[in-house]
Amino acid sequence: MHPLVNHLIQLQELALIRDEQKIAPRKGGHLQQLNESISRMTQQLPPSVREQFIKLHKKDLVVMSPVNDGMCAICNMKLPISLVQAVRMAKAVHSCPNCARLLYYPQSAPKWVGIKPRRTAPRKAGISRFSSETLMIPRLEAKTKEQAIRELTDKMEREGFVDSSSKLLEMALRREVILSTGVDHGLAIPHARGVEGGGLTLACGLHRKGIDWESQSRGLTRIVFFMAIPTAASAFYLRLLAGLMESFMHAETRKALLAAKEPEVMWKTLCKVTRATIK
Ligand SMILES: [Zn+2]
Repeated sequence: MHPLVNHLIQLQELALIRDEQKIAPRKGGHLQQLNESISRMTQQLPPSVREQFIKLHKKDLVVMSPVNDGMCAICNMKLPISLVQAVRMAKAVHSCPNCARLLYYPQSAPKWVGIKPRRTAPRKAGISRFSSETLMIPRLEAKTKEQAIRELTDKMEREGFVDSSSKLLEMALRREVILSTGVDHGLAIPHARGVEGGGLTLACGLHRKGIDWESQSRGLTRIVFFMAIPTAASAFYLRLLAGLMESFMHAETRKALLAAKEPEVMWKTLCKVTRATIK
């Protein structure tokens, strides 16, 4: 990959993590550190690209768009074959002719392979649009956060939502290295951004004893939400994160979910406690 494109992707990721931190903050001045890294990386860009990036970022959270199936993954514009080739060669930075976002060719991203709802099927509401009973694990066996994430990504592959648990895990762990996703109240929200195609998918696991998520003396993590996020759903993901945080800041909500011992009960509880916060 062109070093400049790589730089831009990292910058985009840091900007999205900053948005996450505003919703689900961790103690310890991470926001300031993120701001410093973002402004340093922005300054390092060649002036013309910097100007373009800043201008696009004022309009939308997502500036970098992967090319999926010959299309711009964000605006779905079918791109000329010559442009797709040029993006793949990555000798320069190219823009989408429709939305002007900066294009890149993703390297081995996991694919979403879930079943699309039939057009005649009734529209699902709330959390059931992007999760299901089959993605609930009432008893995670993991001893470490890596094992916990693996259990959830394996579940997503086994239940037919993504094609590669290992790629998903790799992306999620790369994200954890930048900043741990353990937050207050014994929650963790690990995720993999950049899944190809489909919609956002959420799996949930409960841990009876609790896992040390390196969340800096914030106690052990007992509730883990794992999300597979297509780049186009990055803004929706932030709204979903806000909804989850709103529901689970209440001790009685956490208690109700943790009381579930069967996937069926867990799913019903999750639907109920997020009814008001996730539309
Ligand atoms: Zn586009």
